[in-house]
Amino acid sequence: MSHSPLDWLADELSSLDAAGLRRRQRVVRSLGGGRCEVDGRTLWDFSSNDYLNLANDPRVIEAARSGSSSHGTGARASALVCGRTEWHERLESRLAAFEGAEAAILFPSGYAANVGTIGALVGEGDVVLCDRLSHACLVDGCRLSGARFRVYPHADVDRLDRELAKHATARRCLIVTDGVFSMDGDLAPLPELCDAAERHAAMLLVDEAHGTGVFGHSGRGAAEELGVENRNLIRTGTLSKAIGAQGGFVTGSRDLIDWLWNGARTQMFSTALTPAMCAAACAALDIIENEPQRREGLAEKSGQLRSQLAANGIEVPPKSRGPIVPVILGDSRRCTEVAARLEEQGFLTGCIRPPTVPRETARLRVSVTAQHPDEVVSALAAAIAEAALKRTAIGD
Ligand SMILES: *Cc1c(COP(=O)(O)O)cnc(C)c1O
Repeated sequence: MSHSPLDWLADELSSLDAAGLRRRQRVVRSLGGGRCEVDGRTLWDFSSNDYLNLANDPRVIEAARSGSSSHGTGARASALVCGRTEWHERLESRLAAFEGAEAAILFPSGYAANVGTIGALVGEGDVVLCDRLSHACLVDGCRLSGARFRVYPHADVDRLDRELAKHATARRCLIVTDGVFSMDGDLAPLPELCDAAERHAAMLLVDEAHGTGVFGHSGRGAAEELGVENRNLIRTGTLSKAIGAQGGFVTGSRDLIDWLWNGARTQMFSTALTPAMCAAACAALDIIENEPQRREGLAEKSGQLRSQLAANGIEVPPKSRGPIVPVILGDSRRCTEVAARLEEQGFLTGCIRPPTVPRETARLRVSVTAQHPDEVVSALAAAIAEAALKRTAIGD
């Protein structure tokens, strides 16, 4: 038997299997209207972040098509090397106007926007503080930055305040947080975070990945919802969730954006977004602005699912709001089983396990979209209760 230096991979994969943590890929086709096709079966899709159903909107698809026809499929190189198209420039202005900011910059993804921005703002000799439940890309950005990295307990502004006081002599301090927590659906305490940041002259970065298009009167996110848009915020976002396209962005002051053009490595050393995606995102932003009924419908559906789950005896974390509805089951294998049972009944849900969430908090992450029919939302609530409570009754 010859040994390969990669033999350990098979052992590691078996351990993941044994712990119910192995991830498997599958081929899915989004059909629009909150449905998708998996292995030839049509399912109701409660696993996606396409909250406003824009990824299959004919107007957004047509915009992508015309972006490619007029400017080609690829962006050719990093925007700093070979320039960017008028679609990129238009989208930057569009995003800045949408968020009422001086300027915006695009990134290849939301992940890249966060990692690159944190690294451009802090480094050795600085301090970065991160909410414990923030998205992995904020954590990775903090680690890669080289700044001293501190994690504060979820939404605990008092602890953050004490931590900031300890680092009064640091060159710069940066606080980073999800605006809407991606696996919990609650909003960060942004007014209190802004106050703490001001008290300690710290910078505050809010990741609006799940806020854009969903929260706030005009869909501008958690910052709008909580009335802190005129505070000194650095807002990062993604084009890949409610906007239905792909890519990331940051909005803020002209100086901030100019600095990111000069210092954000994930922007400088990665090829620019495709013209098609910029055109698609512009079209989606038009729809978000002109069709507030989508956002209102989404809020209604989210409320409906929450109350019907409660009526069926299923608890949802009380602070969660909006379309992200977590049903915490604890054990990873049990979560996989419940998700599989729901799938048999025609519902695709997110089965979220560590390391995405803390140990023993595996959960179904159910995400509602604007176009899920009422009766389907009701049927899902009943099916979740059936699948989740049945297992408990048997006692695992
Ligand atoms: C999805 C997500 C991202 C990453 O965005 P992509 O565009 O998918 O790379 C960043 N932050 C949060 C909170 C997210 O949920």
